[in-house]
Amino acid sequence: MWNEQKEFDCIVVGGGPAGSTFARVAAESGLSVLLLEKDRDIGVPVRCGEAVSDAGLRIFHEPDPRWIASTINRIKLVAPNETVVEFDLHQKGYILDRRIFDYDLAEFASIAGAQIVTKAYIDGLIIEDDKVVGVKGTHVGERFEKRAKIVVGADGVESRVGRWAGLKTTVKLKDMECGIQKTVTGIDVDEHMFDFYLSRKWAPGGYLWVFPKGKHKANIGLAISGLYAKDGKAAHKFLDEFLAWKYPNASVLTTVVGGVPVAKTVKHMVMDGLMLVGDAARTVNPVTGGGIIPGMRSGLLAAETAVKALKNSGPTRKNLIQYEKEWHKIGGKNHERFYRIKETIFRFTDDELNRIANGIANVPEDSRSLLKLFTIAASKKPSLLIDVARVFTGI
Ligand SMILES: Cc1cc2nc3c(=O)[nH]c(=O)nc-3n(C[C@H](O)[C@H](O)[C@H](O)COP(=O)(O)OP(=O)(O)OC[C@H]3O[C@@H](n4cnc5c(N)ncnc54)[C@H](O)[C@@H]3O)c2cc1C
Repeated sequence: MWNEQKEFDCIVVGGGPAGSTFARVAAESGLSVLLLEKDRDIGVPVRCGEAVSDAGLRIFHEPDPRWIASTINRIKLVAPNETVVEFDLHQKGYILDRRIFDYDLAEFASIAGAQIVTKAYIDGLIIEDDKVVGVKGTHVGERFEKRAKIVVGADGVESRVGRWAGLKTTVKLKDMECGIQKTVTGIDVDEHMFDFYLSRKWAPGGYLWVFPKGKHKANIGLAISGLYAKDGKAAHKFLDEFLAWKYPNASVLTTVVGGVPVAKTVKHMVMDGLMLVGDAARTVNPVTGGGIIPGMRSGLLAAETAVKALKNSGPTRKNLIQYEKEWHKIGGKNHERFYRIKETIFRFTDDELNRIANGIANVPEDSRSLLKLFTIAASKKPSLLIDVARVFTGI
């Protein structure tokens, strides 16, 4: 039992996709793992549009039909002047049911041998000789301290674990999006289509999405760049105006709000005895705001490095830094390219967005693709075309 055990190989703070993936992979390799989650339910509240690509999900798991609310194969863009452009995604995407998905990821970790404890709120680290050696927290009103060779900060966008350890995790206001989403029902939607509304009037510096969960239900949300937060109009006002215009008869089942760090990954993801994964390390794709798959990927890479470090010469920064290198090799280079693309496209005026929509509308439908779209978007800044080509074609 976790409360009788004083020390673990790894303690993971946070039971989202990144933390559960780390816990599973580390436990499968024989490490003793304790995962501590502050909420009483893993995966709840769901602060997410729940969109993932089939290819991304398959890096980790065969998609389970229980996780999938809708399968997506088309995309619809709506420009500020309401020009509508549709095209085939040329790949499959899903809208998940994250309550089930996140539960299953935690269950996989548990089956692999990790101990999972909910209602365990971590409020500090144990640091000795500049090394992180454990965590302090409260579980159902009782204080506790646990020691670990490696503490993993998987505590999401509002992460404090890295900061407590002295890592720089601050995100610039312009790189923090304010997100709001309502899951609504009583509407008619195309259950196989991602809808994106691009305009400063709908979501300045971000986008508004309609992600179907069946034929009559959808996650409808938006994220606004911090760049425009100073203008003072709250995200919920933008969303309410959109719903009143487009889906006046929708019934709202759930409302969630949350930050999306569309930032560069933190410069230092590790220190002696500590690793950061997922949103805590700012691994979200800066263009799409998608953080589920990058978070899981960082959890996997961190766990692989942790296993090697603990089986060899110990959890020093020198050994753990391999994780940073792997992240930059596998996901990080694209992450930086996406960041540069985001820096340009999120500043487009509505006139520029209309121009881009017209550009893609003039391309025959069977030749339209995300690569084509982003190539048109980047055409004003030729240096971006290389980034666009690399992220979409891998060349
Ligand atoms: C409105 C919105 C829409 C989004 N839409 C999408 C989308 O469609 N697709 C996509 O891929 N991504 C989307 N994202 C981003 C995605 O939700 C995150 O990137 C993803 O959940 C990150 O996973 P994680 O494991 O790093 O963190 P999280 O899933 O946030 O998990 C962190 C966990 O840590 C726990 N925790 C925090 N502090 C403590 C503590 N002190 N002690 C113990 N536990 C703690 C939290 O309770 C939480 O369970 C969206 C985000 C928002 C806000």
